[in-house]
Parts: sequence; structure tokens; C-alpha cells
Amino acid sequence: MARIVEIRRTIGVDIGGTNIDIVLFDVHRDKYEHIATLPTEKHLKSVGETLKKYVLEFSADALGVGAAVWLKKGSVIHAPNLPSRSIKLEEMPVPVFLENDANCFAIFAHRKLKFDYIFAVTIGTGIGSGIIVNGKIYKGEGIAGEIGHFEVSAEMPALRCRCGGFNHLECYFSGWALQERYGKSVEELMKERDIHDLEEFDVFCRAVSNAIKLLDPSAVALGGRIGARLDEKRVKACIYRHLLRGFSPEISVLNDEFAVAKGACLLPLLHSGFTP
Ligand SMILES: [Zn+2]
Repeated sequence: MARIVEIRRTIGVDIGGTNIDIVLFDVHRDKYEHIATLPTEKHLKSVGETLKKYVLEFSADALGVGAAVWLKKGSVIHAPNLPSRSIKLEEMPVPVFLENDANCFAIFAHRKLKFDYIFAVTIGTGIGSGIIVNGKIYKGEGIAGEIGHFEVSAEMPALRCRCGGFNHLECYFSGWALQERYGKSVEELMKERDIHDLEEFDVFCRAVSNAIKLLDPSAVALGGRIGARLDEKRVKACIYRHLLRGFSPEISVLNDEFAVAKGACLLPLLHSGFTP
């Protein structure tokens, strides 16, 4: 990998189950600029070519990629919510940093909220989470924080998760699950129903409260296409109903549709030891 001499501009990418968002970050001006949003289904195969084009066009010094994938030792081992787990990023003219998308969201949340202990959850097509401990991403052996695949019920017949498991949180409150359960897109569903009244929302809050009991974070940050549209007060009330006394994290809904792409913009800076 090429050594980074100076980082003036980075490009950050969010490869999600539905869309690929691309954002430019000007380090000195501390400004983000949206470059493009492309449907994943159609553009995942050629994403390397597309990114190379933007890197050259905007003279970026490094590329950060947040993707809905499980990474272990730099390799993608699983990508249940993408059409393919092969993301071709070879032959990029600049250094490339690949990270799980929820971890990128956690990096963004850390920069925004400034707490050193954060549990960050993204709800979009799937559900992911990232853990900030002592101001740094906690990964365990690589894939820590998979709240979307917590077993949350003993329902029979069991609900099959896209990862191959059963009765996982994603089978209840993710974009794909809500669409299957209610037969319409989440956007349509949210127009007709108060999503906070759904039993699936309570399942979600229970899972988050369990994670809080494990981690005792200073803040819980929520984002993603669905998470960013939740009502902070309703989420807080529901999570706190399932919590014990003594736990008192802030609950923050970060309503920024490019939060993951922005977090990805910061990856090259974190890896080079530079704190923006
Ligand atoms: Zn699962």
C-alpha cells in the first residue's frame, strides 16, 4: 500500500444494501460534499471503476469504504445484505481502507458526540452496530457488535435471517424484514403507521437495552435510513423501559443520510494516526 504523505482530501463511500453513497471530505476546511448516490444492485460490480474515476477527478489522497460486510483480518467473510460479497477495489491509485459500515457510523458518531463510550446502531436494509471504547472502535477478533444477529425470540416456526440464522433481530425490525412482514416499503409503512407503535420496535429496543447492560456506554447513537427517522423521545422511553436503574446513556438520533460515508471519509485519517 502506498504511504500517505499528506491527506488533504478523502473520498468516503457507503456501500449499503440499497444504495452506494459517495462523499468528498476536505480535511483542512472540515467540509463534506456529496458526490453521488447510486443503486447498489446495478452498480456494485463496477464500483471500483466508479471510485477510481472520482478519486482522479477530485484529486483525493485516500479512499475510505464502509460496506455492509463482515470483515475479519481485512477479508470479507460474509455480506448477507449485498448482492455479492466481492467488492473489487484493486488498482486504486490511492490507499484504500475498508471497514464495516456500522463501524464507520460509530466513527462518525464519536466525532459528533465526543463521548468515549458509544454504542452506535444503524437500521437500514439490515441492522448493524459499532462500539466505541476509550474513543476507539472495539472489534474483538474482528466482527464484534453484530446486534442485528442477536437471537431475540424463540418464535416457532422460526424466522429465517438473511445470514442463515434464525429469529435474529434483523428478522423483526430491519428494512428487509419490515417490508416482508407488512408487504410494503418502510417509507410507505411509515406514512400509514406510527412505526414506534409496532411490536417490532419494542423487540429492537429490548435488544439495544441488553447491549447497554453489557457495555454501559455514555451514549447510544442511532442512524441509517430507518434509524435516522426514529423519534429520539420515543426511542429513549422504550429503551429505558427495558433498562435497569444505574444505566443512563444519552440516546441520540443522528439524522444525517451520509453519516456512514462521512465516517468512511475519516478512516484514512484514523489509520494514519491523524485526528481531524
Ligand atoms: Zn442473522
